[in-house]
This record gives sequence, structure tokens and C-alpha cells, in this order.
Amino acid sequence: MSSARFLGAIAEYNLDLTPIAIDALQMNITRLCNQACSHCHVAASPRRTEMMTDDVIERCLEIVSQHAGIRTADITGGAPELHPGFEPLVSRLRGLDRHVVVRHNLTVTLDPHPLTGESMSHLPEMFADHGVELACSLPWYGEEETDHQRGAGTFAKSIESLRRLNGVGYGSRIDLLLDLVVNPGAATLLGDQRSLEAEFRRALEEDHGLTFDRLFVLANMPVGRYAKHLDAVNDADGYLGRLEESCNPSAAGNAMCLSTVSVSHDGTLYDCDFNQMLGLAIGDSDPLTVFDFDEAKLMRRRIRFADHCLGCAAGAGSSCSGATAPVESPSRMGCVA
Ligand code: SF4
Ligand code: SF4
Repeated sequence: MSSARFLGAIAEYNLDLTPIAIDALQMNITRLCNQACSHCHVAASPRRTEMMTDDVIERCLEIVSQHAGIRTADITGGAPELHPGFEPLVSRLRGLDRHVVVRHNLTVTLDPHPLTGESMSHLPEMFADHGVELACSLPWYGEEETDHQRGAGTFAKSIESLRRLNGVGYGSRIDLLLDLVVNPGAATLLGDQRSLEAEFRRALEEDHGLTFDRLFVLANMPVGRYAKHLDAVNDADGYLGRLEESCNPSAAGNAMCLSTVSVSHDGTLYDCDFNQMLGLAIGDSDPLTVFDFDEAKLMRRRIRFADHCLGCAAGAGSSCSGATAPVESPSRMGCVA
């Protein structure tokens, strides 16, 4: 996989893109999702069956407990809430006094579980009881744009889900962070994050009486279903070109791979969720797993950059998976759930 365009775009900035810490462990615990969005880099859907196994979950908990520097556990999917071990995992991570971020698609609260049919309506209370930070994907503050990207009815469900989260204290209590993650429907980059945050805040408050804490604007990553879409419309090269033109050294310097290690459902270690979807494992031909976790060695690793990394270096970046970054330097967000 070529990295020439990414390396060329950042060359003039003389950035040090080597690991600086492992302060977050990202766990992609399932590719099952109640939705099947057109831009999904995970290619998640109600038909996916991959689930993180019990032994991998236990090893992740052991790693977190043995490494005081891993302050954040970042749980993603698919819709991670659909994994049968999700709630015990959150509870045990909080018991280890770790900050827990869940990549939440909002609609999972309103839809029945795709496999068991059980109601997921208890999720807002469960999140609040455990003091979980939520990174919630919401493509836009309008119905047409959101439903176009995520399917009919998605916007109405997302608004209802946000209402329930506000009802248990998210968006108003300092210990219950509710962040929104926005990505464009088209193969473009969205505008300035601060002005878009103000626009979202005004629209959601005036139209629906809703509040949230922060908004993160991400570029779509040319990975998974979105990469297939770009190929289908013959725009893969053009999109990479637009990402190159928007190269932002501060976004690249905050990429989540510099401070996070990502674990797939089978325990393999990756630099990030995007590399996970591309099969770019840490260790290359001899992939490392959670059972080989060695912090000192991982800190010396060479991160597997390739041209898709332009999505992390463009505009505000794309990191929606690890620790959420301040609005001023948003690219550690990683990937949209
Ligand atoms: S795609 Fe992954 S490896 Fe590439 S810059 Fe982004 S976080 Fe780092
Ligand atoms: S983008 Fe998020 S909500 Fe949509 S299918 Fe993928 S994981 Fe599910």
C-alpha cells in the first residue's frame, strides 16, 4: 500500500510522527450495527457477526490494569452496545478508575437489538450511571442530510436519543460529556469547526431544545464502504487530491495513532481503527496481538502510514476513535462510530 502521497503532503512540515505515548486503548468489540451507513469505514451492518472474544476482553482489562498510563478506554464498533459483554466491560473499566469513551451512533437506543430483538432503551441511564463520555455521530442538524447519509428515519431517532441523553444529564453535567461527531455526506471537507459547532448548537437548541458539549468535524476516510463508493464514482484519486490540498500539520501531529493502540475483535493490535479495517496490523507479516502487548516495544514501533492517512492530516482530521481532542486540535477523534 503506497504512502507516497501522504508522506509527500507532510514532508515540508518536518513532523515527528513517532509514538509519543499509549494513553488510550481502543477496543473495536464488534462489527455488528443496527445501521449500514453508506460512508462506514468499518462496513458494519446488522448482518455482521464479528464479536470480541472473552479471552481478548479479559486480556484488554489486564493490560489496562497493569499500565497506569492508559487512562482512557475507547470502545467502538459497529455499535459496541450490541456486544453481549459491553455493559460488564464498561463497568469493569470504570472499576479500574479509567475514563471510558463510547462511540455511540444514537439510533441504537431506539432500535431493537438486530440479533436478539431486545430493547436497548436503557442505554442513556446505563451510560449516565457509569459516567461514560459519549462521542455521538450525527451527520447534520437537518433531517434531509442525515437521512440521506444514514437512512430514512435516522434523524428523528437521533433527535429522540439526544433528548433522552439530555434527560439523564448529558449536555449539562460536567461529568457526563456529550460530544457530536460530524462528517460530510459528499467527498468534500466541511468548513471551520468552531463556526459549525455554533451553527449546530443554535439549530439543535432552537429547533429541538437540545444541548451538547463539543462538536468535532471529521473528514471521511477513504477506507471500507467509503473507499468503494469513491471507486464506484471514479473519484478516489480526486478525493485524495482534495485531502492533500487541505493538509494541516496540526491535524497530522494530533493523529490518534501517536497516543493510542487499537485492538480488533480477534485481539490483533493496530495503530488505529482505519489501519484495522485495511488489515495493516502492527508487526506486519507477524502481527502482534494483545497477548504480545509490550509497551516499550510498542513505543518503538514504526506506525504504518499510507495514503489513507491524508484523511487524518486534512482539515480538522479524522481521528474519531481514541481520546477526544480539544476543539482547537481535533484530529485525535479518529473514526465515526
Ligand atoms: S489513519 Fe491511522 S495510522 Fe494513519 S494517520 Fe490516521 S490514525 Fe495514524
Ligand atoms: S457508520 Fe457507525 S452507525 Fe453507520 S454502519 Fe458504521 S458503525 Fe454503524
